[in-house]
This record gives sequence, structure tokens and C-alpha cells, in this order.
Amino acid sequence: MEKNKKENDLMEKIVSLCKRRGFVFPGSEIYGGLAGTWDWGHFGVALKNNIQQYWWKKFVDSRRDMYGIDAAILMRQEVWQNAGHVENFADPMVECEKCKSRFRIDQIENKEKCENCGGKLVEAQKFNMMFQTRIGASEDSSAVSYLRPETAQGMFVNFKNTVDAFHPKLPFGMAQIGKAFRNEITPRDFLFRVREFEQMEIEYFIRNEDWEKYFEYWRGEMMDFMEEVGIDMAKVHEIEVGDGDRAHYSSRTIDFEFDFPFGQKELFGLAYRTDFDLKNHKLEYIDEEKGEKIVPHVIEPTFGVGRAVLAVLLSAYHEEEKEGEIRAYLKLKPNIAPVICAVSPLLKNKPELVEYANIKVYAPLKAEFGRVAWDDNGNIGKRYRRQDEIGTPFCIVVDFDTLEDNTVTVRDRDTGEQERVKVSELKNYIKERI
Ligand code: ATP
Repeated sequence: MEKNKKENDLMEKIVSLCKRRGFVFPGSEIYGGLAGTWDWGHFGVALKNNIQQYWWKKFVDSRRDMYGIDAAILMRQEVWQNAGHVENFADPMVECEKCKSRFRIDQIENKEKCENCGGKLVEAQKFNMMFQTRIGASEDSSAVSYLRPETAQGMFVNFKNTVDAFHPKLPFGMAQIGKAFRNEITPRDFLFRVREFEQMEIEYFIRNEDWEKYFEYWRGEMMDFMEEVGIDMAKVHEIEVGDGDRAHYSSRTIDFEFDFPFGQKELFGLAYRTDFDLKNHKLEYIDEEKGEKIVPHVIEPTFGVGRAVLAVLLSAYHEEEKEGEIRAYLKLKPNIAPVICAVSPLLKNKPELVEYANIKVYAPLKAEFGRVAWDDNGNIGKRYRRQDEIGTPFCIVVDFDTLEDNTVTVRDRDTGEQERVKVSELKNYIKERI
């Protein structure tokens, strides 16, 4: 009970911090909100971009065997028919006899009683989670299309184009970051279960006999990524997904689950999709060296961006008590933090301090690192508190001594300790620490 309250409080604190500090806002808020949608504010975009860019650098730019793609969200309906989604992308549901609320059976603890009104839950029809739409002015069924529920198919349908353009040798992969849409029955838990989200996915094409080797390899790569962006690995659990619970295309899946405040839930997944998709799209690969035609098999590491951001925020959130006051700060890794450093003149009504801070400190740091904030609002204590909540690793203050000796105070977010650093040394000081 006590633990539950603490965990609920933590979630409330994160949601409120995200809104107050401009990370994430409720979607369509001024009209009462739209369930399952969230809008990213300035610092949220920066945090999300940093995670995505890190992912792209690690899995695409620093490898020789990976090809990027950015496919259209709308695709012909045949893609989803042949991929099995029109028939299978549905979850078993239950419905409350009394208030008619619907729930996904795998997402509720009490499978007999309605959590809203206590009414009896009965089996309901399966519900396909793809958002259907129509292309063009025609009402005809041939105009039906879907907003993609996964980025994966955008890669499979471009498999031939990629092979023809780049002539890759097996094994090789395709990588994509992009939006996906699912008409979730009960969106909940902030960024965790939403209707519009982003995925970072890899389809890694291999010979079927090598699948176990590459499954293991990608399991390791995924773990490394989680650690590198600052996810608390003590809260990550690998779960082997059982036969009845896997997606229709997978013959082995591991879920990486995270201890969220609302329970241990899926963060990312790793699936062995066999040759299911390429076969269904009637695609093949010619191995020129061996002179044979094969249908490659696929290992798919998949990462939800929103869930990654949430796990990073929950891992980074710290509170400490000092002199009766609670200090909350986000211990984000400097490479992921939305702001690397904030620059402040001690007093904003002293032109000599403002000018020095602006021209000699802020401008060169901004040109070097980009993610640099100017903060002259309120007193220094308030500025530190604000930057702590944004997760800014370094706060730099220009004071009267600076004008004499060209040194500034640099305060460390995690320890709260301050040291004097020469202005001419600032760039190197920060570079060494990121
Ligand atoms: P769940 O069982 O939680 O619905 P899933 O197994 O259907 O998830 P996948 O189809 O494997 O999820 O999707 C790949 C990744 O996309 C997930 O690991 C997760 O990070 C992310 N994801 C899936 N659905 C959502 C959603 N509704 N909101 C936010 N992220 C999602």
C-alpha cells in the first residue's frame, strides 16, 4: 500500500515536472484533451531527439551493414492484408455489462469485475487496433488505407529497392525511426500506452541457420543501448514471451520489461520474425557469390521512443533533502540532457555582468554545443532549481569577480558543488565531462 502510494506519487511528479518545465503537454489540452495523445514541448523534443540521434548514430552511422529508410506512413491496403495485420492485429477484449467500458484482457488485473463501476466483464468482439482511413475522394473499398501500426512494414516493402540500390551482402539491416498509430482501447500511464507514438526499429536480414547467433547478438546490443542512454538496468528484466502470447509473425520474442511505477511492463522487444514478412510480400534475395535465391530471415529489435523517454526520466529522477528542503533533479547523461549548460549573469540589472555573460560566455558556448540555455529569471537559487529539474549538468554564473579575473562559477547538478573555472577553459572543461 505504502509502496503503491509512493509509486503513484512518483508518476504524478514526473507528469507534472514534464508539463511545468516544457517537456510534454497533454494533446489538444485547451479543448479538454484527447486521450492517448501528447505534445512535445521544447525540452521534450530535445530529449527525444537526443535519444533518437544516439540510436541512429549507434545502429546506423557507426556500422557498415545498416541502411536507413524513412517510408510513408500511408501504404496500400495490400501491405497490411499480406502482412497479416488486417486479420490479426487485434487484441481480445472484455466489455462491462453495466457501463459498457471496454478493456484489453491482458491489461487488467481483475478480469471479472469492471474497474470503473464494478460491473461484470463479459467477452467482447475482437477489435482491430489499426486506424482506418480513405485515400482520395472515392468511397470505394479499394480506397481504404491504414495509418501504419508499426514502422516495420515500411522496411519490408523497400527491401527490394534497398537491395537493388546498395547490393548489400547478408547479413545486413534496415533501420527506421518514425510514427506508428494504434487505436488502443485504454490509453493510459502517460507516454506508456498512447495512440500515436514513435518507434525506432531494425529489420536485420540473415540466413535462417544463423538466427540464434544474431538473436543473441541483438539482445546484447539492446542492453548496451539502454545502459548508454541512462536507463536504470537494475529495473530492466528480460521476459521470454510464451507460445500463445507472441505476435502472429514471431517464432521467438523477448520483451525487455521495466519496473514502471504502474508495474513491470514492456519497454522494448526483440523478435525473430522468421521469413514471414518477406515471404508474404513475395520478396527474395539473390546471393551472387553462392549463385542461389533465398528468402532471408529477420531479427527485429524494436524500441518505442515514448517508453524510452519515460524510462530515462524515471531512472534520472532524484530527490534529496537539504536543510529541510527537497531538491529534485534529473540525473540525465550529458549526451542525452536537453540542455548541456545554462549561463547566468549573477544579477540581471547589471549591464556589465549581462554583457560579459552574453558575449564572452553564452555566445561561444552556444556556437560550440548548441544546447545551451540563457537563464536570468529569478534569483540564483531559483535558477539552480529550475535547471536541476530540466537535468542541466552544469550551471555557469558570471559574477563581479569574473570582471576582475575572467573566471566563472560552475555548479555541478549532481553534487551541487561549485568551482571556479577560467572562461578560456570552459569549452574544454565541458567537453571533458560530456
Ligand atoms: P504492448 O503489449 O505493451 O501493447 P506490443 O508488444 O504490442 O506492446 P510491439 O508491437 O512489440 O508492442 O511494439 C514495439 C514497441 O513499440 C514496444 O516495445 C513499445 O516500446 C512501443 N509501443 C507499442 N505500443 C505502444 C503504445 N500504444 N504506446 C507507446 N509505445 C508503444
